[in-house]
Amino acid sequence: MSSPAYIGRFAPTPSGYLHFGSLVAALASYLDARANDGLWLLRMEDLDPPREVAGAQSAILQTLENYGFEWDGDMVRQSERHAAYAEVIDRLFEAGLAYACTCSRKQLEDHQGVYPGFCRLAQHPQQDAAIRIRVPELEYHFIDRVQGEFRQHLGREVGDFVIRRRDGLYAYQLAVVLDDAWQGVNQVVRGADLLDSTPRQLYLQELLGLSQPRYLHVPLITQPDGHKLGKSYRSPPLPADRAAPLLTRALRALGQEPPETLADARPRDVLDWGIAHWDPTLIPRSRTIPEAQLR
Ligand code: GLU
Ligand code: ZN
Repeated sequence: MSSPAYIGRFAPTPSGYLHFGSLVAALASYLDARANDGLWLLRMEDLDPPREVAGAQSAILQTLENYGFEWDGDMVRQSERHAAYAEVIDRLFEAGLAYACTCSRKQLEDHQGVYPGFCRLAQHPQQDAAIRIRVPELEYHFIDRVQGEFRQHLGREVGDFVIRRRDGLYAYQLAVVLDDAWQGVNQVVRGADLLDSTPRQLYLQELLGLSQPRYLHVPLITQPDGHKLGKSYRSPPLPADRAAPLLTRALRALGQEPPETLADARPRDVLDWGIAHWDPTLIPRSRTIPEAQLR
């Protein structure tokens, strides 16, 4: 039996512009898909309008185009998928697998981010409450293609987690699982900041009878002072006129060994070199890059 065709994706959040770390994730997911003759889908994870930066969606698309990326099919926006999320939440609520939580931030502050289950039996109504999913007292684990084995005990390390916030916004953990399944994604390549979200997503897939994709978490780019490049790091858009050199640096951050001359080529040529020479076994588990080299 042949394995199903490769379907990958890139799923940026418009809470900021693409930075070098997101370029590394975009590049890895793109090269892995294309080197496997796969599809590469684009999904805008615009679940949180209050945190959205005005103009970020179009800036992200513009950067992807300037850097030579071509995605398959139409971009999907999570803001257009609310009905699907609501339907699943109702189903979980009716099955007693999800429940309403009215705990304040203050009530939870002494629990190190692990929900202590205060509202599990309270039977609060759904209105003006967060919705949490019950987790089992079990360890979930998977083998990441780069990071190796990763384990997390959901009961002890996470607790019942939020799938719809009190302000009515849907949580990333639920939306990402439903959308990857709906789009047929079977290979997830993304940043290692999401490694510890993966067990929650495995649990939701199991609960909802969805198949589990393979995972590859690319190294987080840290600066020599230990500072991480991430969502909280406000960076300017990646410069359009530096596409080829920054793509070449992103290839190096992924352990690939492009020739120096590639930095002077066209962005499309850098991507084509990357597809032809893609070797995921060279990807390091973490990477430190001086700030000056991220521009
Ligand atoms: N939207 C998430 C982010 O930008 C990525 C989600 C994912 O790849 O699963 O961090
Ligand atoms: Zn509660």
